[in-house]
Order: sequence, then C-alpha cells, then structure tokens
Amino acid sequence: MLEIRRLSLRHPAPLHDISLDCAAGEVTVILGPNGAGKSTLLHAIGGYYPAAAGEIRLAGVALAGIDAARLAGCRALVEQHPARPAGMRVADLLCIGANQPAPAMLAQALELCDCQALLARDCASLSGGELQRVHLARALHQLLAGKATSRYLLLDEPTAALDIGAANQQLATLRQLAQRWQLGMIAVLHDVNLALRHADKVLLLKDGRQV
Ligand code: ADP
Ligand code: MG
Repeated sequence: MLEIRRLSLRHPAPLHDISLDCAAGEVTVILGPNGAGKSTLLHAIGGYYPAAAGEIRLAGVALAGIDAARLAGCRALVEQHPARPAGMRVADLLCIGANQPAPAMLAQALELCDCQALLARDCASLSGGELQRVHLARALHQLLAGKATSRYLLLDEPTAALDIGAANQQLATLRQLAQRWQLGMIAVLHDVNLALRHADKVLLLKDGRQV
C-alpha cells in the first residue's frame, strides 16, 4: 500500500494537504486543469521532491528514508515529455533505472508495449507514440527486474500522443498489467471519460489542492 498523508509541497509548485491511498493492482487517476499541479504531485509521489509537510509511506516505510537503489525497484516514472537521447539505442535506454537487467522480464515488457521492432533504433528517431511505448517498457523493466513487494508505476499523461481509440486500448492494457503483476498505478490523464472508465479512484486537483 502506498499511503499519502496530508502531503504539502512548497517547490517547484505549491501543493496543500493531499491524502490518498493506492493499493497494489489498483489504478488511480489524477485529473485537473493545466497548471493544477498534477505533474508536481506525481513527482512528489515518486520521491523526486521533498515534502514540506506530511509524508508518503510505502509498505509502512517513509519514502524519504528509502535509499535510491531500493526506491528504483519500488517505483518507476514515465514523464509527460520523456527523454529522447540522441545517439542512444532503444535497447540501451530500456536498461536505465533497472538495478539489474532482467532479460525475461524485459522480453515481457517489450511484447506488452509492442517495442521488439524498435530495439536497434536511435532514440532520436522515434515518433511521439513510439517513444512513449519505449519508456513504458523501460519503466516496467525497472519494476519487474526487482523483487520489491510494493511496486508503483507513475505515468504522466500516458495517452497524450494517442487518438481516443488507442488511448482507450492503452488504458485497458495498463489495467490488466496492474492486476497481473499487482502493481499500483497512478496516471495523470486529461480525459474525464477515460478516467471514469478505467480508474478505481480519481483524485481531482485544482490550484494544488485536492477537490
Ligand atoms: P500540471 O501538470 O497540472 O499542468 P504542473 O505540476 O506541471 O501542473 O505545474 C504546476 C504549476 O507549477 C504551474 O504553474 C507550473 O508553471 C509551475 N511549475 C512546475 N514546475 C516548475 C518548475 N520547475 N519551476 C517553476 N515553476 C514550476
Ligand atoms: Mg503536467
């Protein structure tokens, strides 16, 4: 269980008094207007920004006290605008973040994200949709390569590059994946209909506050 208790942040954007529980296998969606603080909250949940007040606990342990290597096995983030490093092959990008490469798990992640044909490509040559799929596979590899008992996938607008049919399909796949591996999933989305259709829980954010 991931527990967010009365979390407040000052930087880079203010967040006030946010509380949320996310269980393994569950999909939580964060919705809100542009500038509400959704990306900031997602990064804070990942431990990238320190809390000004409140705390985040993962399987009962304060996230702030977990070292970087262990944290890498517990949570993986796919950014809203993921990195597209020129000169790096997709096969190498896929191993970033994983404490130890796990070829069998990587093969499953590649298949789920339909990335097998992209392995030899330069990251700079990928389309927006391809880049999103590769980063999703990278994040899955990072989580599945470890043996952590509580694992969370954090996704910032994972459907932004997709049309509505593909977005719907993507979220259905992510849901299955959360259940199959008992991953907690927290995704920022823009579409209320998609959120209501696929989420177990929705957190509405406005001006850095949970509404
Ligand atoms: P959302 O994802 O909901 O659109 P963000 O969390 O990205 O919102 O940003 C919330 C607010 O904080 C916005 O006004 C944004 O401009 C500001 N902000 C976010 N990151 C930074 C930063 N690194 N430096 C300065 N301002 C930031
Ligand atoms: Mg954002």
